[in-house]
Amino acid sequence: MAQIDAIVLGAGIVGTSIALHLAKRGTVVALIDRGGPGEETSYGNAGVIEGNTVFPPAFPSDLATLIRVGLKHATEANYHLSFLPRVAPWLFAFRKFSRPDRLAETARAMRPLFVRAIPEHETLLAESGAERYLRREGWLKLYRTDRSFAALRVELDLAREFGIPFQPLDVDGARALEPGLQPLFRHAVHWPEVASLTNPLAVTRAYAARFDALGGIMLSGDARSLHRNGGRWRVETAQGPLDARDVVIALGPWSPDVLAPLGIKLPLGIKRGYHRHFRPTGNAGLTRPVLDTEIGYCCAPMEQGIRLTTGAEFADRDAPATPVQFDRIMPYAKKLFPLGEPVEATPWLGKRPCFPDSRPVIGRAPGQAGLWLAYGHAHWGLTLGPATGRLMAEMITGQTPFCDPAPYRAERFN
Ligand SMILES: Cc1cc2nc3c(=O)[nH]c(=O)nc-3n(C[C@H](O)[C@H](O)[C@H](O)COP(=O)(O)OP(=O)(O)OC[C@H]3O[C@@H](n4cnc5c(N)ncnc54)[C@H](O)[C@@H]3O)c2cc1C
Repeated sequence: MAQIDAIVLGAGIVGTSIALHLAKRGTVVALIDRGGPGEETSYGNAGVIEGNTVFPPAFPSDLATLIRVGLKHATEANYHLSFLPRVAPWLFAFRKFSRPDRLAETARAMRPLFVRAIPEHETLLAESGAERYLRREGWLKLYRTDRSFAALRVELDLAREFGIPFQPLDVDGARALEPGLQPLFRHAVHWPEVASLTNPLAVTRAYAARFDALGGIMLSGDARSLHRNGGRWRVETAQGPLDARDVVIALGPWSPDVLAPLGIKLPLGIKRGYHRHFRPTGNAGLTRPVLDTEIGYCCAPMEQGIRLTTGAEFADRDAPATPVQFDRIMPYAKKLFPLGEPVEATPWLGKRPCFPDSRPVIGRAPGQAGLWLAYGHAHWGLTLGPATGRLMAEMITGQTPFCDPAPYRAERFN
């Protein structure tokens, strides 16, 4: 096998983008996964490239919501009771980072990455011949109550400061954009510069094909075989052992499986989420993703149908699927938009890898020469895959990074 400079473990949108950016810089790279590119978390998301995002999802601040979640009546969240003791420390930390001042701090820390989110996708889409999957219609967020719309003020002020365009709309304004919506909400905000994808799986596959065309090596293997071999890192693959000086962990929610045996323990939590596709009824259609904010689901038009995605479920990563949130959101979703028959027999389950401060870890692994980390992209992995790929490739090849990577260092949790 060719002499390898770097191994990227995990061919989700993050790992594939890193491998592609490294290959573009002339690095000899092997991209290793136990499955095909983009088939896990990067397959099932809502397809939104949220380059205009300001605040991350936050821990509920009002008692009524907490009680609804606690009683398992909430549409936007679910949990497994047996999992609560294990997730409690993470939830406390997440709550701390949900204070208004910390949300603003996160928004500022993440801004340099978000600014590059859409342009970096556009570059890779063009190079991969996959521009047809990109939609530039923005996304629409709906607010069913005056109260929830009023609570947006701080976020909109920050959006103005960042120069992010948005348009508050009344019901008629929103329905002019999306005539298929029923007037069950009171306010809406259109974020016109948000982009979205009609098939996230096809896009990761297109980036992988481009990597392959540039001479990148794609191999099947188990990342958990990673170990030191002299001064290099070794991974066992279907084609035999592979050694390289640098190795990148881009295993999304599975990253701890490889890092824990190396003594690297960072506070990664998992917010599980589901999707299911529905055929629209009659001629009804959506032009862009629509978020029903308070109920906590997204309707995203995809090649496969209207993809309904749920909010967070706190449960063991590997526990069987419990898609009860669909039973809770369906009555709201069906009234808002004429959803027809489901496409699949059962919902798909995905696992968002989330740090409590809603920032990914991108950079060197503490205390392990040649080991790099790129995981924990939470609700924004599809958005930030290509920007992360560029940043990581610049760091590994010794180029000047396009932004200061300090806010994403693993050491922030020390
Ligand atoms: C319901 C839902 C909706 C979402 N909506 C959006 C959205 O609209 N916009 C957005 O930006 N983000 C969204 N996200 C988040 C986004 O999908 C994730 O942040 C992103 O996909 C994470 O990408 P990744 O490459 O880090 O992980 P993954 O895509 O999970 O890739 C990890 C890879 O590692 C491989 N792997 C794991 N273990 C091993 C092993 N032992 N050996 C070899 N390979 C291994 C897996 O096979 C997989 O291919 C959503 C997520 C969910 C669940």
